Amino acid sequence: MRNRGVLTIISGFSGVGKGTLVKALLDKYDNYALSVSATTRMPRPGETDGINYFFIRKEEFEEKIQNGAFLEYARYVDNYYGTPREYVEQQLEAGKDVLLEIEIQGARQIKKLLPEAFTIFIMPPDAVTLKERLVGRNTETMEVIEARLCRASEEAEGIEWYDSVLVNDNLEKSVEALHGLIQAAHCDTFRNKDFIKDIRKGVKAFSEGE
Ligand code: 5GP
Repeated sequence: MRNRGVLTIISGFSGVGKGTLVKALLDKYDNYALSVSATTRMPRPGETDGINYFFIRKEEFEEKIQNGAFLEYARYVDNYYGTPREYVEQQLEAGKDVLLEIEIQGARQIKKLLPEAFTIFIMPPDAVTLKERLVGRNTETMEVIEARLCRASEEAEGIEWYDSVLVNDNLEKSVEALHGLIQAAHCDTFRNKDFIKDIRKGVKAFSEGE
């Protein structure tokens, strides 16, 4: 078997601390590559083009959709978000564990395309903490916060669909748990249906005396 990286999808409510968690994971271990998404939303203060997102116009985004440049894309609270295909494929091929920080519609598209992808949903310790974090980060208007909380409530319906759920109550602990889950996914051949088929065929052949 080729030593391909594990494609990991990390989802979670807006304000749950996914970004901080992923950054801490990247700082601590060098086997990960983070996919930078394209979006049509405006940069927040402190966000840099090419690092946090590729900030592009709606027309450019739609052209990229037409050209098949995205592995997946979705609309989220009035904006487009999409995963550039090429980077993800290159990094997986190079053996890196690729992290996608995306929402559930995109996660479902990827899982259909690549069933071996590993999906994790990050949870807040409780709902009150979520609202406090979202309001406290002071980067969105109250109207956008309300829309994001509404979206969180919809997303809550999809949590059981994920392979794993991680409660982010302590950064250091959560980074280790996330790392452990992804590394364990390397050994979890159950998600790699082709591998299972090959082994099954091989074992059957042995049993028939070949
Ligand atoms: P934010 O505007 O807070 O940065 O992101 C809003 C939501 O879009 C988050 O749930 C984030 O995970 C998701 N998101 C970011 N990039 C992508 C992407 O490339 N594809 C999809 N489907 N969702 C994304």
